[in-house]
Amino acid sequence: MSDSIVDLLSGFDGGRLWADLEQLATFQDADAPPFTRRAFGPVYEQARSWLRERMEEAGLATRRDAAGSLIGHRPGTRDLPLLVVGSHIDTVHGAGRFDGALGVLAAVEIARVLGSSGHRLSHPLEVVDFTGEEPNRFGSSCVGSRAWAGRLDARLLALTDERGESLAQAVGRAGADIERVSESVRDVGSLAAYVELHIEQGPVLETDEFDVGVVNGIVGIRRIGARLSGQPSHAGTTPIPRRRDALAAASELVLAVEHEARQAEGELIGTVGRALVEPNAPNVVPGFVELAFEVRSLDEARLDLAIQRIETAGKEAGAARGVDVVFDVLSELPGVATDPRVVSALEDGAIEAGSRTTTMPSWGGHDASQIAHIAPVGMLFAPSRDGLSHHRDEWTTPEQCANAGRALLAGLVVLDERLAADTTA
Ligand SMILES: [Zn+2]
Repeated sequence: MSDSIVDLLSGFDGGRLWADLEQLATFQDADAPPFTRRAFGPVYEQARSWLRERMEEAGLATRRDAAGSLIGHRPGTRDLPLLVVGSHIDTVHGAGRFDGALGVLAAVEIARVLGSSGHRLSHPLEVVDFTGEEPNRFGSSCVGSRAWAGRLDARLLALTDERGESLAQAVGRAGADIERVSESVRDVGSLAAYVELHIEQGPVLETDEFDVGVVNGIVGIRRIGARLSGQPSHAGTTPIPRRRDALAAASELVLAVEHEARQAEGELIGTVGRALVEPNAPNVVPGFVELAFEVRSLDEARLDLAIQRIETAGKEAGAARGVDVVFDVLSELPGVATDPRVVSALEDGAIEAGSRTTTMPSWGGHDASQIAHIAPVGMLFAPSRDGLSHHRDEWTTPEQCANAGRALLAGLVVLDERLAADTTA
């Protein structure tokens, strides 16, 4: 291990990081206690003002870009593209204290460590709190990171909430200059890499007693709708062989989705999360069912195959019952590749920091999913107690936060050294 990393790691103050997490958690929307802090509300803006002060104390030069993202800059020793580290501090309704916040505040602690040690990275460093990562009332998400990737287009900005306010107006209200949103676009090549620490939001790290997970890709998500049309009929007088029971066929389809996920042993997950039954009465054989399901995997070929098998099972279940089954694709979100150089630097950094480390996919989307369109990305996960997230009991211990933050620090230093060496070779 290099001496500089040892020195830097000893300067990382887990207590200071924890105090920041507790302080940030006090910024709460009054109508949804205890830990909700939705994007574009007044409390969110107060929290970002507080965060901006923490960034400046850490020696970062701060600014807000045209999409409202809060950016803290620290110069490097060489004229190289940026290393960017961050996440988000907005939350869903009914959230916990760690989703997004850990990634941003660990990055601020890293800036403090670099500042007080005088250690200069070769690359300039940016610490970023991306605007509005969570799904918002306008029906979009990842507002700040989409803007960087040039994907915050006019259609998204024109989306309105139930009161008729547009996303553009909401972003603008926070002092951002949405008229000039194109200026927040980052060119391909302007970022050497983007790295994000986030809580796992699942049970794997805690169950297997790992300190950190190095993410080896963000899964693709396919959502499929199924419409099953049979025949409503009298529940007492229609014999079973004469029925065209749409719900009985739909039930086999639900089990086919579960079967695919069970067979895949962790490589794929599937859920039927929505069902609509007509006429939905206890004394009528169901004549019509609409289902929506999703399947997630890192492996696109596996996704294709699973959906093909689920659709075949659904058609067969329908054919056996005289039920017509039609599928349509609701959405296809491609998987996101992490960059092998970033992944290996994060792995080696985590090991240097003394963390018990594993590699794992991210089963959910993050700001990194957007930034991957313009730059090499990598992510680290910290454990989530009981896998709970988007919940007031979301919990990562002070020690786990500090371990993950140290792994992030070491990973960044390793990445900085390696990428800088590549440019001189
Ligand atoms: Zn998050």
